[in-house]
Amino acid sequence: MRDSDRRGTGWAAAGVLALVAALGVTGAVALTTREAPDVGVAPPAKAAPPAVPPAKPGAPNGDGAADAGDGSIPSARRLTPFDTGHSALGRLDPALLKAVQAAARNAKQDGVDLFVTSGWRSRGHQQRLLDEGVEKYGSLAEARKFVETPDGSKHVTGRAIDIGAADADRWLIREGARYGLCQIYANELWHFELREVRGGRCPVPLRDASR
Ligand SMILES: [Zn+2]
Repeated sequence: MRDSDRRGTGWAAAGVLALVAALGVTGAVALTTREAPDVGVAPPAKAAPPAVPPAKPGAPNGDGAADAGDGSIPSARRLTPFDTGHSALGRLDPALLKAVQAAARNAKQDGVDLFVTSGWRSRGHQQRLLDEGVEKYGSLAEARKFVETPDGSKHVTGRAIDIGAADADRWLIREGARYGLCQIYANELWHFELREVRGGRCPVPLRDASR
């Protein structure tokens, strides 16, 4: 009994050792070729490339991805009054922003989408627009009918906003007084500022920005 037991356990032990040896070798191979790289190198490499790097440089603050910080809005962008992560809206006079947001909500109920084509502008951005205007219209005098100087522009102080598209301009010209939003220049259907509204009517627009 004892002998056979011992022999039995002896054989069993030998068998286990042989198995362990066999497994040990293949296990070691498997570990070095498969698991070792995973544990040692892969996790940082795996976590980094797909997830973070492409997003970080381009999108520092979500919808402000294409924000140069000077209030300029690429023509491809369609900003709404609620995209306050963009400098054009984030640096707008808070009272004006609030009025435009309220108007946008009600316009939406009428089936009209309000887009912001320009809001706050840095002095540099305003000057660039004026320079482009001079080139486009041929003279400073002509350009000034459409573009203010950095000193004169209400965009630079965050107290003016340009709205599109045309249906939104028409809606806002018609309904804007309820929010204190008024068309200021007869030749700029898109440009709105806050005004004191008396008797539910905005002041009569000026002929153009040069007046
Ligand atoms: Zn404007």
